[in-house]
Amino acid sequence: MRVVLLGPPGAGKGTHAGIVTETCKIPHISTGDMFRAAIKNGTPVGLEAKSYMDKGELVPDSVVCKMVEERISEADCANGFLLDGFPRTMAQAKALDAALAAKGQKIDLVINLQCSDEVVLGRLTTRRVCRTCGAIYNVNSKPPKVEGVCDVDGGEVYQRSDDTVETITNRLSVYKAQTAELIDYYKGNGVLRDVKADVNKDETASAIRSLL
Ligand code: AMP
Ligand code: ZN
Repeated sequence: MRVVLLGPPGAGKGTHAGIVTETCKIPHISTGDMFRAAIKNGTPVGLEAKSYMDKGELVPDSVVCKMVEERISEADCANGFLLDGFPRTMAQAKALDAALAAKGQKIDLVINLQCSDEVVLGRLTTRRVCRTCGAIYNVNSKPPKVEGVCDVDGGEVYQRSDDTVETITNRLSVYKAQTAELIDYYKGNGVLRDVKADVNKDETASAIRSLL
């Protein structure tokens, strides 16, 4: 099963990825997580990505596509994968389709998480993340048991530098200008399913489960 999680920043892609990867037994591929790891490790890709991410802009297609094509060629992706945060432009979607078509493969399901701007803004300004394992918290709805400490592995729970009102607003405009058109693209391919993501987490989770 090859699955794409689509939706604006803050719709819950990272939060709900686990349902898909556990049910389908496929790896979770988050391009944002890959870039954050690259920045932490000081790699050339990390250095290039950082300036874009800090502004809430997209990293150039060529950089992202190469990274994803290499990742999905790894052995653990042979039976499928979940893409979270990729594709984000038409060029990325077409490059992905071409790379898969060359192997006789295609995207089987696109889960489109629908969420209003107000909910996104509220969630992202209060979002906190574990620096070690990526677990997602929220200061209001899901704080860690000990402030600043991850429940799972004791890692540091921090606020992403791009989770500020200014950068979130820009990420939302970028989503509308460059990513939202993928909804029609995948609808045209007959693989898109809409899921309401501005309701409570359990409702969204069960809607996703019923698609799998
Ligand atoms: P995310 O963790 O998915 O919110 O991504 C954080 C940031 O990483 C984005 O705001 C972009 O700057 C960059 N990024 C992640 N995925 C992509 C992508 N598919 N194309 C371009 N930039 C990306
Ligand atoms: Zn953790």
